[in-house]
Amino acid sequence: MENVSELKQFLAIPRDIVLTTHRNPDGDAVGSSLGLYHFLRGEGHTVHMCVPSEYPGFLGWMPGIHDMVVYDTDPERTQELIERADVIFALDYNALDRIDKTGELIYSAKAKKVMIDHHLYPEGFADYQLSEESASSTCELIYDFIQLLDKDISITPLIGECLFTGILTDTGSFKYSTSPKLFRIVAKLLERGVDDVKIQGMVFNCLPEKHLRLLGHCLANRMEILDEYRTGIITLTKEDYETFDIKRGDTEGIVNFLLRLKNVTMAAFIHEQPKITKISLRSKGDFSVQQIASKYFKGGGHLNASGGASFTGLASTVRKFKSILPEYKSQLLGEADKVK
Ligand code: 5GP
Ligand code: MN
Repeated sequence: MENVSELKQFLAIPRDIVLTTHRNPDGDAVGSSLGLYHFLRGEGHTVHMCVPSEYPGFLGWMPGIHDMVVYDTDPERTQELIERADVIFALDYNALDRIDKTGELIYSAKAKKVMIDHHLYPEGFADYQLSEESASSTCELIYDFIQLLDKDISITPLIGECLFTGILTDTGSFKYSTSPKLFRIVAKLLERGVDDVKIQGMVFNCLPEKHLRLLGHCLANRMEILDEYRTGIITLTKEDYETFDIKRGDTEGIVNFLLRLKNVTMAAFIHEQPKITKISLRSKGDFSVQQIASKYFKGGGHLNASGGASFTGLASTVRKFKSILPEYKSQLLGEADKVK
């Protein structure tokens, strides 16, 4: 981050701060918001968190999560907080159009803007930017940011637990995006009193029954494997959403099951939402799903995890996805051949 000493000086007196993160916030979005929230409050600032849409139920245990102001249910409060803020943090997203109306509010806000993020191709709207695509998670970068401010001493077990949660979910329990640096950070968090086993239990072993039934349905009835293209697809219809009483965040992680197959290089989870059809893409190795998400589905993300949307319904989105596979066939096969 350039000009960090300038920002450090600005934060040396109590400020009015708003933390924002992306729509359908995941463990990293929520973990980085809450980690920074508790840290900045500890430093004497007035801090609020704004999210475009509701946080998922499986993170409901996280301390402070109920303080989040949700744009979908409280647009006026969101606007008021963003307009009067001295500093706005953009966490775990790389472009203002990723957060809908909240993005427009941030664009015209008088506040200094600080982006902390690990997605490819940051938009560059912020005055201060800590953007590192090699980082496992935004939570890892919040840890780095606290170090840059020379405030390591202020990392409490509570802050550590929030950061650990985002690291845990964005690395799929340390299965990808790991590095020696990340494990060193995690070791430090554990030394600070983070109970890693407790958090794993809270995040992964607290499912309501319907989740396993939904997963079973996806794997038994909604999964298609296109061997020829080393690609797996899971689809969910609007009716599935009703039958299984699916809410935001309930489908998190389902797409990753496809990557467990030896013969699958790319996984797609395509599901109908009220207004759009959403697509989640995952891949192994060097195969970039970011290129597919941005070129064909108005989206983006990371090399191995990206997403996008289409406005044409489920069946035609699946057709479109299948129609682009021949273009990538040799790359998909090449990647699969690496794991013999
Ligand atoms: P997920 O598939 O879990 O929704 O998202 C995977 C990754 O892709 C996340 O890092 C997320 O930020 C990014 N992503 C998901 N949907 C979109 C989208 O519509 N546009 C962009 N630019 N990125 C997305
Ligand atoms: Mn993230």
